Amino acid sequence: MKQILVLNSGSSSIKYELFDMDAGRALESGLVERIGEGESCLKQTLPASTPKSPSQSRSIDVAVPDHRQGMDLIRRALSENASFAGGEHLVGIGHRAVHGGETFSGPTLIDDHVLQAIQALVPLAPLHHPANLIGMEVARSAFPDVPQVAVFDTAYHQTLPPYAYRYAVPQDWYQRYGLRRYGFHGTSHAYVAKQVARHLGRPLTDVNTVVFHLGNGASVTAIRGGISVDTSMGLTPLEGLVMGTRCGDLDPAILIQMGKQSGISLDQMDGVLNKQSGLKGLCGANDMREVLAREAAGDQAAALAVEMFVYRIKKYMGAYHAVLGRLDAVAFTAGIGEHSAEIRARSCSNLGSFGIAIDPALNAAVEPPIGEIQTADSRVKVLVVSTDEEFEIAEQTLACVQPAGR
Ligand code: AMP
Repeated sequence: MKQILVLNSGSSSIKYELFDMDAGRALESGLVERIGEGESCLKQTLPASTPKSPSQSRSIDVAVPDHRQGMDLIRRALSENASFAGGEHLVGIGHRAVHGGETFSGPTLIDDHVLQAIQALVPLAPLHHPANLIGMEVARSAFPDVPQVAVFDTAYHQTLPPYAYRYAVPQDWYQRYGLRRYGFHGTSHAYVAKQVARHLGRPLTDVNTVVFHLGNGASVTAIRGGISVDTSMGLTPLEGLVMGTRCGDLDPAILIQMGKQSGISLDQMDGVLNKQSGLKGLCGANDMREVLAREAAGDQAAALAVEMFVYRIKKYMGAYHAVLGRLDAVAFTAGIGEHSAEIRARSCSNLGSFGIAIDPALNAAVEPPIGEIQTADSRVKVLVVSTDEEFEIAEQTLACVQPAGR
């Protein structure tokens, strides 16, 4: 039996999910949250044993002063679950890591050198990397005999050609400061592209897909034969689509103008563009369900926010169609992409001349984990796919610790 534990360590939380890789299913998931904040708690969920039975959850309030103790708590919680085989059956631990820079283009076995290399990338992800590193260090001491693998959110996009990843600024900015497009949500885009090809019964290398990951953070990737060739997020996750609280594409002169006119600091601007912009900046709410409900109730600001959200999607749809030349499939995933038939319908409206048309009945009735929603005469397939970043991390971890043929 092969089991893989996936860990996602944040500044005050550690999320985990345990997978049975032979059966391809999750055995347990949970998180320790509010680490170091005095009132921490462990939440644990055991999936339903049959499709009809409910999943079981428990929540324990317990003081967790630091990540080391958080990891101990997770180890103890796992060992109480009868399906945790432990020992040699736990063949690997996969860590979600936000930014691999240009150093990491695939899943990487963690050793001291790798930790140093990740440390060197902290300037590219100053908020996330320190927490990712702590998670790796405490997991290595909690499970010293288990190989550990870092899976980077940016790695999938390391295949972008230079003309797609460079910005048209002095080359010194790239050479000295690493300013280029890295892209994010790579694990999700990679997973969804594979599911689309599998569903269509075609080799991944034959299918050209545009994947829209529409969650609170949102990005789109043009994928040629399984390879990412362009993506909407850039140096940071701020670029591209309109998001819950992030602005997406912007004229950079706005920052200069605002700095001069209002005198707000660079740190304040960072906060506004990341946390007070997007849907929230436009209409006061970042949850798409609430924005749609407000629009339906006649709120003009909410209506404009939704229009801008879908208009930006359409612009990228056209751009990435042109990038790929031949487009076989469009896939919608993540919270909004998977659950909002309305956003999918509006994003694909009037695209008949691009060979993209959605069937309203299929769009309304589509079920997870994957389904097609295009009309019978739509040249391009349109799919709704449940993303599973943790499972993708588990698969990449397994491939790294047990390469095929070994
Ligand atoms: P995620 O970041 O993938 O968890 O997605 C979060 C986003 O999905 C939020 O904006 C939610 O409002 C949105 N979402 C979840 N369910 C729905 C739904 N039924 N309709 C519209 N948006 C939804």
